[in-house]
Amino acid sequence: MTISTTITLANGVEMPRIGYGVFRMREHEVAFNGVSEALKAGYRAIDTAAIYQNEEAVGEAIKASGIAREEIFITTKVWNADQGFDNTLRAFETSLKKLDLDYLDLYLTHWPKLTLAETYKAIERLYEEKLIRVPGVSNHHQHHLEEVFAVANVKPMVNQIECHPSLSQDALRAFCADNNIAVTAWAPLGTGIVFTHPVVKKLAEKYSKTPAQIVLRWHLEIGNIAIPKSITPERIVDNLNVYDFALTVDEVTAITALNTFHRTGADPDNFDF
Ligand code: NDP
Repeated sequence: MTISTTITLANGVEMPRIGYGVFRMREHEVAFNGVSEALKAGYRAIDTAAIYQNEEAVGEAIKASGIAREEIFITTKVWNADQGFDNTLRAFETSLKKLDLDYLDLYLTHWPKLTLAETYKAIERLYEEKLIRVPGVSNHHQHHLEEVFAVANVKPMVNQIECHPSLSQDALRAFCADNNIAVTAWAPLGTGIVFTHPVVKKLAEKYSKTPAQIVLRWHLEIGNIAIPKSITPERIVDNLNVYDFALTVDEVTAITALNTFHRTGADPDNFDF
């Protein structure tokens, strides 16, 4: 694996293995600077959402980078209040305008509300109209995906879910793999909970890497796409610097075994936003 290694999605589109997440970066300057640093460091995927309220800043940073549009994989998400078929189409238009783009690489249902099927049908329509390159969902458990499958002509190709060593999501990852759905891990660092765990600390020492780099490498080894967020320039660079070592199968298994089913965010079966 190298920094340019991608995952080939179900329709053949290539998606970078590590992207830059921009949640909690609402201030224009913070988002603009973060995305600018990330692109300079070599990231070629950016993960935003309408609810992050920074799509304008993300779009401006992409333009200012001078990097060709088609070299950057851009994801955004339809917020819960905008779900439903017509609303999703409108929300997409707004996001596209804010980002100042004429297409998106990946568009996701942010959370599985009761309207998840209509919302996905709108995303599918955008895919058919070639306004997005990849249709996807986020925070969908297996039963949510099955609800989507029941109405979909084209299955979602990405499911973005909370995943880190404290929530390794083995069953859902296996279900996604069986259905040719790539998994993107949000909160890939799990707010640092496992950074001080002896298993992770020992591996960090062994490979002269930081605990964050060990965790990000674990994501790559188990087949995930990871979208770490940082506003700290050195961390932005460090989080991409995970291609000069590899974990053994046993080491990967040991990290996966740290799973405690601990969520840093809401459970998609029980949220009130
Ligand atoms: P992360 O696991 O990326 O952790 C981010 C936190 O870790 C920040 O506090 C950051 O601090 C810190 N950090 C980053 N790099 C390092 C490092 N190398 N060493 C130590 N600490 C580090 O969690 P997020 O919740 O931000 O998730 C990442 C992305 O996932 C989001 O930005 C968003 O794009 C997406 N997401 C999607 C959700 C969904 O519902 N689909 C929900 C939540 C997130 P600092 O910035 O100060 O450097």
